[in-house]
Amino acid sequence: MSVRASDFPPPFDTGEFVGEPTDPADERIEVGILIVGAGPAGLACAIRLGQLLEEHPDVAEKLGDVPVALVEKGKQPGSHLLSGAVVNPRSLRRLFGDRYSVEDLPGYGPVHGESVYVLTRGAALRIPPPPPMKNHGNVIFSLSQLGRWLGERAEEGGAMILPETAAEKLLVSHGRVVGIRTGDKGRGRDGEPMGNFEPGADLVAKVTVLAEGTQGHLTGVALDRFGLRGDEPQVWELGVKEVWKVPRAPKNIIHTMGWPLRTAAKYREFGGSFIYPMGDDMLTIGMVIGLDYRDVELSAHDLLQELKTHPKIRNPRLKGIHYAIESGRLAAESAFASLQRGATPATALSSYDDAVRKSFIWSDLEEVRDMRQVFGRGFFVGGALASAMTISKGRIDVGKMHAEPDAEQPLLRTNRAARYPAPDGKLTFDKLSSVFASGNKTRDDQPNHIRLQRTVPKEIAEMWVHMCPAQVYEIGTEGGDGTVTVNLAPSNCVQCGAITAKGGRLTPPEGGSGPEYTLT
Ligand SMILES: Cc1cc2nc3c(=O)[nH]c(=O)nc-3n(C[C@H](O)[C@H](O)[C@H](O)COP(=O)(O)OP(=O)(O)OC[C@H]3O[C@@H](n4cnc5c(N)ncnc54)[C@H](O)[C@@H]3O)c2cc1C
Ligand code: SF4
Repeated sequence: MSVRASDFPPPFDTGEFVGEPTDPADERIEVGILIVGAGPAGLACAIRLGQLLEEHPDVAEKLGDVPVALVEKGKQPGSHLLSGAVVNPRSLRRLFGDRYSVEDLPGYGPVHGESVYVLTRGAALRIPPPPPMKNHGNVIFSLSQLGRWLGERAEEGGAMILPETAAEKLLVSHGRVVGIRTGDKGRGRDGEPMGNFEPGADLVAKVTVLAEGTQGHLTGVALDRFGLRGDEPQVWELGVKEVWKVPRAPKNIIHTMGWPLRTAAKYREFGGSFIYPMGDDMLTIGMVIGLDYRDVELSAHDLLQELKTHPKIRNPRLKGIHYAIESGRLAAESAFASLQRGATPATALSSYDDAVRKSFIWSDLEEVRDMRQVFGRGFFVGGALASAMTISKGRIDVGKMHAEPDAEQPLLRTNRAARYPAPDGKLTFDKLSSVFASGNKTRDDQPNHIRLQRTVPKEIAEMWVHMCPAQVYEIGTEGGDGTVTVNLAPSNCVQCGAITAKGGRLTPPEGGSGPEYTLT
């Protein structure tokens, strides 16, 4: 079987999502600096801008009635945030200075200790934590709770947050980004306006900051429109997690690697699990897998269910939150600098690029730059190379490491799904129960927002069915030539973005759709 999802690209044209503003000039909503996405990066950007504008009221005045606006597709900041989350507090300290200390933030306290296990089906071998997994000094949060708190701080600093608003189209005029158009609301399944129809609006700004997180819709559009993709393709991971109420939470944070993932290179199964205490009586348990896997039946949701059946109960640097916060803070400083006399969009962009290169984001990530690729050689060879790279702080030469787009991996089949435990509704759950627990209340008569080819080889359709943690895809009729149709239930979608990595394309549904996370 050498079927690849990349041979069946989604019906998606970047041009559809880029264009000049269309609202008459006097009906456009004008703001000073527009931020897309209220994740840690976008919120840090808004907070830092609030601080800078407070110090420079003259600049704030030039930015008009709404100096800083932030659009978020979730019901509120935090609604669409799901993370571990053990956070390196360094960026929060830099962001808030002496305004707030990390203890003032809504968290679950510092990491007391950590345990790392290599699992086999029936046993667990404790190993010393590899350096990238050392978490001493880090703090445990729920990112959705932290997002809500950061949202309040951004509003206190003067930012206007527009929730339930999806940025759908990048507004470009004379080769320059001038804002975004928000998505329509109240359309029916075939796109027809319904009784409560509200058209989208052009939001124009002096500076637009895209902080959409992984697989951002407009970020992807901007990368293509302005030729910004690098030489090496981005590779992705998919994470799922559950929050449990328990009689007594573990004291330590726990990471596991190995089982239920397979170690041979041919499967390309990279990832691991995490268990973090959330106070005395709650914990979060999650599983992360690299999306360059090949088995059509691999399912992060079912691997997590399988993990929970282990009698006991890795991932280098799954630590994005402090990088997101720092990059948001630096983006705010560059956006602010671009408003100074004599600055041009080009100098603003290069000042951001320089600032990121000089920051700890760059030096930290440089040390682990090929860490992900070496695991393409299998768990044991990859583990040995990763250790050598860690000890040498990334200086050891392990040969030129190339990444391949996740959708280009040839698929294979090994009857893997036969090993997943049947849901019992107590310890193990089916996907729809998890979608329900996510608080997803997406209106199911809105237009489909997932772009993919609807008739594909059966292996690709099966891969999508197993991959999606929200049971959106279903195999329809067989074509008799090895192809099948793919049926969709888009209202289940929790907007994880995995489909964009594996051969389709997620576009934002109507604003306010999707999960309503409160503890993730
Ligand atoms: C399972 C899992 C575990 C993790 N564990 C950890 C951990 O322990 N520690 C750690 O530091 N990191 C962890 N990470 C990584 C971390 O969560 C991310 O690096 C971080 O959230 C990135 O922040 P961001 O602001 O860039 O994007 P996001 O957090 O993705 O936020 C983006 C926001 O933008 C909004 N948005 C996107 N597109 C649009 C649009 N077009 N219009 C309007 N709104 C839009 C989204 O709704 C969202 O609110 C984990 C991630 C996962 C999935
Ligand atoms: S349909 Fe939604 S939830 Fe499912 S894989 Fe695609 S983006 Fe993720």
